[in-house]
Amino acid sequence: MVKTALVCGAGGFIGSHLVRRLRREGFWVRGVDLKFPEYGDTEADDFVVGDLRRQEVCERIIDRRFDEVYQLAADMGGAGYIFTGEHDADIMHNSATINLNIADLAHKRNIKRVFYSSSACMYPAYNQEDPDNPNCAESSAYPAAPDSEYGWEKLFSERLFLAYNRNFGMENRVARFHNIFGPMGTWDGGKEKAPAAICRKVALAPDNGEIEIWGDGLQTRSFLYIDECLEGVVRLTRSEFEGPVNIGSDEMVTINQLVDIVAAIAGKTLHKNHIPGPQGVRGRNSDNRLIEEKLGWRPSQTLTSGLEQTYEWIERQVRSNHPKAA
Ligand code: NAD
Repeated sequence: MVKTALVCGAGGFIGSHLVRRLRREGFWVRGVDLKFPEYGDTEADDFVVGDLRRQEVCERIIDRRFDEVYQLAADMGGAGYIFTGEHDADIMHNSATINLNIADLAHKRNIKRVFYSSSACMYPAYNQEDPDNPNCAESSAYPAAPDSEYGWEKLFSERLFLAYNRNFGMENRVARFHNIFGPMGTWDGGKEKAPAAICRKVALAPDNGEIEIWGDGLQTRSFLYIDECLEGVVRLTRSEFEGPVNIGSDEMVTINQLVDIVAAIAGKTLHKNHIPGPQGVRGRNSDNRLIEEKLGWRPSQTLTSGLEQTYEWIERQVRSNHPKAA
């Protein structure tokens, strides 16, 4: 019997990569999203363009007992989308409605296990003020104090999926992603995140030119390459551990260092112009002790190797969209 999987958010960055991975494993895959993937064709066997805020759409796509269900659909973006406050109501309403629908319909169709992607943005801001020593251990989540409404919605929805485990015997799995990046991610338009934005700015800048960075660039983050994220996702989904657990890299860098790595990959010398802009918390790093303990696995690829592959892809996009780019 061929195994079946449902990927919600299959038109997005992580979802479209996940569809490809599951197909390679031999799954029959249905993808659902408001849109087809932006950069390349979907590899799903069946792709439904539909709005998961609508219950009847969810009823239509969850029409069988899938072996694996991945709920990645969310209204989200980078700092320029999440931290300005302008999209708070949409972010909370849209993502929570999707999660309420999926959790309930999966339960009603007797689907036992849904993977849900939460985010490191649910961690309390007060533990992320020191850029050198942020605390993102899973157990540090409470008392809750995320610094964005996006983070509050994630916290609510991870609790929702785990409540279905306790009350209805489901076996949902929850991961907290920390900055996932790679080729075929949004790289312009306002929803792109730091690695993609910096790759684009570096690709567009002439050698010895300058690039703009939001804040002083001393804020710290870690970034996980997409292939390793997917490895963590399927390992967690097929494990006996429900989470929540971090899926992220623990190779922490400042944003200035991130720029230096990308500039070195591009072979350019660049001056950093620090300008005001949304930054999020001061420091964040994945704490990988729990995932290693529970799954016997942790991400290990270096940031530089992931950035090499990502820069190459973004540079190609920039060249085809801006033929006069440096
Ligand atoms: P993405 O924005 O590329 O993908 C999300 C997809 O959900 C989009 O294609 C979007 O069209 C779809 N979607 C939104 N509203 C929908 C609706 N009403 N009906 C159907 N589809 C809808 O984001 P991504 O980077 O692939 O992230 C996937 C998941 O992982 C999200 O839940 C996100 O919050 C979470 N996450 C991602 C990161 C990261 O660094 N990429 C970090 C933390 C958490």
